[in-house]
Amino acid sequence: MKPRDLAIAVCGTLAFSLTAVQSQSGAPAKPDYPIKPVTFTKVHLNDVFWAPRIEINRTASIPSAFEQCELTGRVNLFDRAAAVLRADTSVDTRPPGYPFDESDLYKVIEGASYSLSVTPDPKLDAYVDGLIAKIAAAQEPDGYIYTTRTIDPKNPHRWAGPERWVFERDDSHELYDLGHLFEAAVAHHLATGKRTLLNVAIRAADLLVATFGPGKRTTWPGHQITEMALVRLYRVTGTEAYLSLAKFLLDERGPGPYPEGERANPRGLNYNQAHLKVVEQSEPVGHAVRAVYMYSGMADVAAVTGDAAMRAAGKRIWDYLIESKLYLTGGIGASGSGEAFGQPYELPNMTAYNETCASVGMDFWNHRLFLLEGDAKYIDVMERTLFNGLVSGVSLDGKTFFYPNPLESNGQHARQEWFGVACCPGNITRFMPSVPGYLYATRGDAVFVNLFAAGSADVDLPGGAIRIVQETRYPWDGAVKIAVTPARARRFAINVRIPGWARNEPVPSDLYRFTDAAPAATVRVNGQAVPLALDKGYVTIDRTWSPGDTIALDLPMPVRRVVSNYQVMANRERVALQRGPIVFAAEWPDNPNGKVRNIVLPDANALSSDFRADLLNGVQVIRGRAVGLALDETGAVRRTEQPFMAIPYATWANRGRGQMAVWLARTDAVARPTPFPTVATTAAIAASPLPNGRGKNPRNMIDGEEPAGSSDSSAYFDWWPVQGSANEWIEMTFAKPSAVSSVELYWFDDTGRGGVRVPASWRLLHKSGDRWLPVETAGPFGVARNAWNAVSFAPVTTTGLRIELTMQPGFSAGVQEWKVK
Ligand SMILES: [Zn+2]
Repeated sequence: MKPRDLAIAVCGTLAFSLTAVQSQSGAPAKPDYPIKPVTFTKVHLNDVFWAPRIEINRTASIPSAFEQCELTGRVNLFDRAAAVLRADTSVDTRPPGYPFDESDLYKVIEGASYSLSVTPDPKLDAYVDGLIAKIAAAQEPDGYIYTTRTIDPKNPHRWAGPERWVFERDDSHELYDLGHLFEAAVAHHLATGKRTLLNVAIRAADLLVATFGPGKRTTWPGHQITEMALVRLYRVTGTEAYLSLAKFLLDERGPGPYPEGERANPRGLNYNQAHLKVVEQSEPVGHAVRAVYMYSGMADVAAVTGDAAMRAAGKRIWDYLIESKLYLTGGIGASGSGEAFGQPYELPNMTAYNETCASVGMDFWNHRLFLLEGDAKYIDVMERTLFNGLVSGVSLDGKTFFYPNPLESNGQHARQEWFGVACCPGNITRFMPSVPGYLYATRGDAVFVNLFAAGSADVDLPGGAIRIVQETRYPWDGAVKIAVTPARARRFAINVRIPGWARNEPVPSDLYRFTDAAPAATVRVNGQAVPLALDKGYVTIDRTWSPGDTIALDLPMPVRRVVSNYQVMANRERVALQRGPIVFAAEWPDNPNGKVRNIVLPDANALSSDFRADLLNGVQVIRGRAVGLALDETGAVRRTEQPFMAIPYATWANRGRGQMAVWLARTDAVARPTPFPTVATTAAIAASPLPNGRGKNPRNMIDGEEPAGSSDSSAYFDWWPVQGSANEWIEMTFAKPSAVSSVELYWFDDTGRGGVRVPASWRLLHKSGDRWLPVETAGPFGVARNAWNAVSFAPVTTTGLRIELTMQPGFSAGVQEWKVK
């Protein structure tokens, strides 16, 4: 199969020029974004950063995500629905884990389609055809697709509601699933030319048009994406009704009243951005993924319809986010509770949620705002997310994924192959192949060079095609050579982005700032310096270009220290490191004693950078000297001069579990001295396993750190989701036989947030030969919250201790810390 020339660019942002370009049929072009991205199939990367990751996505992530969709019954949902439609009465009618499980398959089909359009693969093509046949067979006669209701209309998943659409504003996800179907269908059609999945999407979209709209029924999606997906379907089909429906779904969103029997999400109207009409919103609130998908849809509708209020609202919300709710890594969503934005400046590091999907959505949205406004500040934010908080979502081997992307760890975090709610792996698989489409764009006869990566691009301009070749080791080196080759000498403009970080502006707000000034960027054309007169972040080079002309861009990349706005409590007296677009993190394997939370990095200590080809598939590292803090046996703080090393944040957690920190202490006051080794902190620890084989790191119970309270969510162990069990245990094995006579337990309990409580009861045993014997004590075995529960017992010399506990009925249990003396 010959790679097809896609008419559409990444993420559905097909853009026609608003200027009066006539289409081939002679009809005026339809309005759309004024700036048009150069589609990813026209851009070929052979760079050091993206090309290897895109290949790993193709060879590892996409196959493993399809495998998981098979193993977890997601594909089978369509088979079962199809069987019911054939009147097969022997079907397993159990509901899926979640009503949005089917959307994961759509996402991976979308990613596979992008991949097919660049790298032909007949086997993959045929496999996708087979999946599409299953999806088509699961569609009801009137176009409805929602497998749980089709499989058992009387007893669908409990979030589905008793009838079609009635729980849509809550959590049925009927429109969300269809949104992902539309995205996949458009991608598959453009990649392969086939209409199989597109026809399924059109029948479903026609059902929506027949059901919803002025004078018909109303609703809005509980989880957004349908809006931008409908715009995408409109662009491919030309069916105006899809665009009108996208705008309708945005316009209808807001506080009730709702028709009888329908309700908004019980988590509250902020949760899914229904607290105000969308055009009245200013602050990003609620579930971060839903939010950025909605803002992306608003940008699309504003671009195509010219809706000025919607455009203005998007810009207001963006300003608010950049002022106070953006992590340095470009991640968003501070809180795991509701997967949501926090309050302004509430940016905790260890408990930062920063869902991978939210980073994908951030890049969808920022790219759209650039296409609408032509301002490089949106690309600055997009680049920050892309290189840091987005690629951190996938391991270097492409096989495991982060759901949250925290900025600090005590070893409790690790990527997983798959999740019960498996949105993030699918989003990575569909995003990675589209990355080349973010490099270039055009407006009339002008080109935008937005991102830097070695490779070539064929750019169609009204005055004739040009070829652009970049040579660079970006992001490890800031020297970029851009060769510009028009077919013949002629005049046009090239707008070269000078990144914010190269203009001493880490973000377009005062949320973060560099502590020093770096040398200025330089631009030369054929060796001649070009004045750095910036317009919206670009140097415009408007001249007659001849084949062989080259632009030499030099973006100096010293190691930079970044500090936060003082209002960010979590980062007070702390510093982060950045070099070029890359945010760095200190991780346990590279620093003395496997600790980084005890490091103090004084401002005066010099730092340097070098490339390590042997490390993490080849990365730039930062080195210098720091101070390590540790407690001695008297509890006094000891300071030790020690070597320091940091790696790119996105590559952490590829070498096992352990400490990591982006924001490092500048002074002793905010570092966490390493606890003095005790019989407990030097022991081995194990706990009764969870049925799914996953769970938290038991070492959190013996990390020597003082909990802030029972609900401290930084480093604990629990058995969630096991509830009411009387069979759980923890065993501590000492390095050598030790004389012990007391323990202290600090229980984990997340009352008000989750389902873990102090246990109903527990007991303590010690190892005697091969047997566990209860310790001799009068007790009591305390279960107080927010306190140490001490038990003294008759001294024993033993190799281990064991706790056996019984949970409260209906609740799980967990431990913050376990001390032994
Ligand atoms: Zn996700």
